[in-house]
Amino acid sequence: MLEDGFWHGEIMDQHIHLDRKNRYLDAINEFVNVGGTAINLVHKPDFNNLPRKIEDYKIAYLNTINMGNEVRNTFEIDVVITLGPHPVSWEKQVKTMGYERSTELHLEAVNLALEYISDGDAVCLGEVGRPHYPVNNQTWNKANELLLQIMENSAEEGASIQLHVEDNGKKTYSEIEELRKKSKMVKKKVIRHFAPPNLDSNFTNGISSSISVGRGSIETIIKTLEKSDSIWGMETDFLDDLNRPGAVLGPKTVPKRTQELCRKMWELDYSDNEIISLMKNIHSKWPKEIY
Ligand SMILES: [Zn+2]
Repeated sequence: MLEDGFWHGEIMDQHIHLDRKNRYLDAINEFVNVGGTAINLVHKPDFNNLPRKIEDYKIAYLNTINMGNEVRNTFEIDVVITLGPHPVSWEKQVKTMGYERSTELHLEAVNLALEYISDGDAVCLGEVGRPHYPVNNQTWNKANELLLQIMENSAEEGASIQLHVEDNGKKTYSEIEELRKKSKMVKKKVIRHFAPPNLDSNFTNGISSSISVGRGSIETIIKTLEKSDSIWGMETDFLDDLNRPGAVLGPKTVPKRTQELCRKMWELDYSDNEIISLMKNIHSKWPKEIY
């Protein structure tokens, strides 16, 4: 499975979006050709055409589930599905629908996603969270109340969540942990998406993370690897958006960074067994535990 520092096993992208109108299967073809074996396909919100009613969410969720089936049938790779209303949609809807109606619609969309999860059509709620950009105090407080409610609903269902949150270092993680405790969610099932590459548990507070593996990320991963006692994995957050072709990262990135990590660990004299067990953990064993 590991040959001179090259990994021949599972490689999973834990957060990717697809769009039938854009690259869609062609993007997965690219991923598979460089060794990708599994994806977590996440509902893609349409910020230019925001949902007005729960039926709009239902159409978008079913489309995601169907795309997942088509990817499975075409490439025979593992596909898990993540469904949920995006926090940026809520923040935009507040401006047109007001707090009350946008929050109500958001929670309806959360509960609909949880139904698909309990039926086995999806495995994770996401991306849910709070705006990653500055908003006024009232919106911030309401976003946090809403997020707590979302986490409580997930806890009741025993579902995992992928969180879209702001990037405020250690503070972000400790606030997530506060909310998690209140909600009584199982810790490993709270997964921060678009996470920075610092794996040190002092930084992550032990929250699971799906690392955005941009350039330079592997150096930080290696530096902090042994200070981590939580679940982590790799993602691109590929948007499949024609106007932003390589955003956030292209479909080949996770396989590429996986090989970079293996090669660097191999050069640092990690044993083959250590490297193999880490690769199995991040690309197969841990995802099965959390999704
Ligand atoms: Zn995303």
